[in-house]
Amino acid sequence: MVKQDMKLIVDGKRLDGRRFDELREIKMSVGVLNRTNGSAYVEWGKNKILAGVHGPRELHPKYLRDPTKAVLTCTYNMAPFSVDERKKPGPDRRSVEISKVISEALGHVAVLEKYPNTGIDVFVEVLQADAGTRCASIVAASLAMANSGMPMRDMISACAAGKIDGEIVLDLMKEEDNFGECDLPVAISPRRKEIVLLQMDGKLTREEFKKAYRLAIDGAMRVYDMQKKTLIESMKIEE
Ligand code: ADP
Repeated sequence: MVKQDMKLIVDGKRLDGRRFDELREIKMSVGVLNRTNGSAYVEWGKNKILAGVHGPRELHPKYLRDPTKAVLTCTYNMAPFSVDERKKPGPDRRSVEISKVISEALGHVAVLEKYPNTGIDVFVEVLQADAGTRCASIVAASLAMANSGMPMRDMISACAAGKIDGEIVLDLMKEEDNFGECDLPVAISPRRKEIVLLQMDGKLTREEFKKAYRLAIDGAMRVYDMQKKTLIESMKIEE
């Protein structure tokens, strides 16, 4: 994270008018794709993210199988048109890292032991990116997995907090991510009281870290409530 000369807080407000503890607008839906076992679409500020789940299905080649549980694989991909400058298609270091952290976060809650020798593939397609895509992707992937009917011990939620112009704020958007001092994405399993992702890009003092960490968890809890509401709504039978 490079600090440059750009004011991110003007008259006590952020560039997009948000308060320090305010989330961007979030919309979510599930069951949006017909040929997956489960799917979700999340708009989080200017981020637009689709997630689809395939499986559990018999895993080939056989040597990849685990006789004790399903093998969960997540693939995070940013479309070439998802950012201002065309992004080179295909995987890069960043997408490999984010794929790994999403797989690990979901692996904490999916009851993989129920489906030995199978594979479960989670595909996350970032159609438009504006910072915070790993958190939004975890939220979308978790919703898609729940939508697939996969038994889960909990849902995973996520949100970032960070530091801009010396202030701790919730849910950084792109300019804040680019020109701020620190970004701290956190993913949680509230029912199990587990942190399933914690990364930090930048520097914070111990006190600032505590404040940002609490703020991120508070944001993730608000997103968790939205996820639950979305799933409950999707299961309502129309009369
Ligand atoms: P996150 O999206 O989880 O915040 P990063 O901090 O790595 O992950 O990225 C911040 C933002 O930078 C992304 O959401 C995206 O808007 C932008 N970005 C990431 N990779 C690229 C890229 N290759 N080209 C242009 N912008 C990018």
